[in-house]
Amino acid sequence: MTQQQRSAESCDPVGLRVHKLCKSYRSGEQSIAILNDLCLELQPGDNAAIVGPSGCGKSTLLYLLGTLEQPDSGTIELAGQRPLELTSLETAAFRNRSIGFVFQDHHLLPQLTVRENVLLPALALGAVQPSDEERADLLIKRVGLEHRNRQFPGKLSGGERQRVAVARALLMRPALILADEPTGSLDEANAEAVTNLMLEMQQEAGSMMLCVTHNPALAKRFQRTLTLNQGRFASPDGEGGNSTA
Ligand code: ADP
Ligand code: MG
Repeated sequence: MTQQQRSAESCDPVGLRVHKLCKSYRSGEQSIAILNDLCLELQPGDNAAIVGPSGCGKSTLLYLLGTLEQPDSGTIELAGQRPLELTSLETAAFRNRSIGFVFQDHHLLPQLTVRENVLLPALALGAVQPSDEERADLLIKRVGLEHRNRQFPGKLSGGERQRVAVARALLMRPALILADEPTGSLDEANAEAVTNLMLEMQQEAGSMMLCVTHNPALAKRFQRTLTLNQGRFASPDGEGGNSTA
């Protein structure tokens, strides 16, 4: 039995379960705790805004959940896997398939067209299949950019670039979408439009979504608001963290 099969055995087969996640950074002689026994549970279709003061560890949490960084301790279960127990190759494939990222700065590749950027996660997993192309075209239409298909990101507005980033994040129908201040560089109207689009598409895909935002009005659009305070959410399962529901 492989490590992956063993990991899948007792995991929540569909949701996200984070238990006692700890992360600290060294600063000279000192170790500074950023996340401290953080716990969180989500089920498919769940979305939550993550809020908290600058430097409190919001991005660090998304990096850990996104398997881009390793915690000091704690467990993460996502979609029936324990990503922290996978090899680095397995982790990269898992990340590509199961997690969609939307960053503050779109992170689109300037030398690729809109369509090619949206297809990147499929390319990273190997050959692009016709079904990937169909889905990319559907998503590009969904975000209202079919007329921009062959354009390069440099020719797009900030709002349009974020729409491409949202389409790219959804390509593989990821179990979890992680968005780190995705509207931080947008004006109010575009921020609202991109947030609405992300939420609608997350619901359509049945994915889970965590979105860091500094905008209280946008945070209210999510099912829950989780306030990161001293390295954890207000209660063990992340509920009650300043819920706006
Ligand atoms: P937020 O996203 O909430 O603004 P971050 O997660 O980016 O906060 O950072 C939390 C804290 O961890 C900050 O004090 C930051 O300086 C520190 N930090 C983040 N990444 C590193 C790193 N790679 N090495 C050392 N310290 C870091
Ligand atoms: Mg941050």
